[in-house]
Amino acid sequence: MRLSNQLVLASLNRHKFEEFQALLGAYPGISLIPVETLIRNPEGLRRVETHENYLENAIAKARLINQGCHYPTLGDDSGLEVRALQGRPGVKSHRYAPPQPKKSQDQANIELLLKELQGQENRSALFTCTLALIIEGILIHATGTMEGTIAEAPSGTHGFGYDPIFIPAGKNQTLAEMTDAEKNQISHRSKAVHALMAQVKSHGIVFAKP
Ligand code: IMP
Repeated sequence: MRLSNQLVLASLNRHKFEEFQALLGAYPGISLIPVETLIRNPEGLRRVETHENYLENAIAKARLINQGCHYPTLGDDSGLEVRALQGRPGVKSHRYAPPQPKKSQDQANIELLLKELQGQENRSALFTCTLALIIEGILIHATGTMEGTIAEAPSGTHGFGYDPIFIPAGKNQTLAEMTDAEKNQISHRSKAVHALMAQVKSHGIVFAKP
């Protein structure tokens, strides 16, 4: 099956878009389109994220956007699982802390997580990313993970979300202290993308410039 080169990302997160764009850049023929340029009210994406697992959320996001356009659609859902917190914040990572008027959601989430981990010796954690691709009515999905530990304090200014407090296994800096290219070499998102693209290939699907 030979398709147009365009793929729409069912996410409103600009940072994620940039990471996916860089990661998919390794696959010639694919061009990623931001959902905002296609759909007038993509805010519904937050409302369909109601499931208790990443896969159902990723599928719900991909379906919502795929219904409104004729492009292949990539849905994603990700989160941070901290072992000492029995896997929290997990699938609820984005809205872990209650919204606060005076600080960003990311900052509030980080502060709450560090507070909950105070005094904990086990600071090991795992990032997970699950992708769901809807393409010509076919659903393909894949998951990638990245092991690491939670730092005692935030450090670094790159990236988004919990990047300033996540130190990947085998590294001595947080994701927010790494360049985008360094993060993309090891991230949960990059592993999920490569696993997904291997499946796309095995389905005989080829993206190509018109
Ligand atoms: P969602 O996939 O849109 O539900 O958002 C997942 C949330 O998990 C994000 O808002 C971040 O808080 C966190 N998260 C997921 N991936 C990453 C990452 O690569 N770096 C930092 N935080 C992340």
